[in-house]
Amino acid sequence: MTRRLIVRRSPIHGNGVYAAVDIPAHTVLIRYKGRLITHAQADRLYDDGADTGHTFLFTLNDKYIVDANVGGNSARWINHSCAPNCHAYIEEVDGARKDKVIIETRRAIKAGEELTYNYGIVLDVPHTPKMKKLWACRCGAKRCTGTILQPKGSAR
Ligand SMILES: [Zn+2]
Repeated sequence: MTRRLIVRRSPIHGNGVYAAVDIPAHTVLIRYKGRLITHAQADRLYDDGADTGHTFLFTLNDKYIVDANVGGNSARWINHSCAPNCHAYIEEVDGARKDKVIIETRRAIKAGEELTYNYGIVLDVPHTPKMKKLWACRCGAKRCTGTILQPKGSAR
């Protein structure tokens, strides 16, 4: 993949992805890759996912989820932030199977900055204090909500 991105340990969580060079606003950085699985498969495979607070799953559309546990690229290391400098969007192609998750910069990013986007995660289960803690956010933004989980009913 491109030399614009570097993967290394992050103070937010685990590995993070950093800009190797200055990157202008609205630049397409990387596609979030992985195998395609259905929502039902995801539930079967990662039944405990809601209890770990970690995920390499990205909801592609009503049918499919991108599972970066298999065939994932460095996009899976991009951390969540409450004040992200990137955003992820779905590029719709003919047929749900071909849709793509694309990560793009929201603003100009300086070399050395960690790249982040809002995961937009809303769980089917109640967002109890325990769940919010499991999905704790340590992005360090001034307006950090303390959790990766987004308010229920919030649009992505
Ligand atoms: Zn945060």
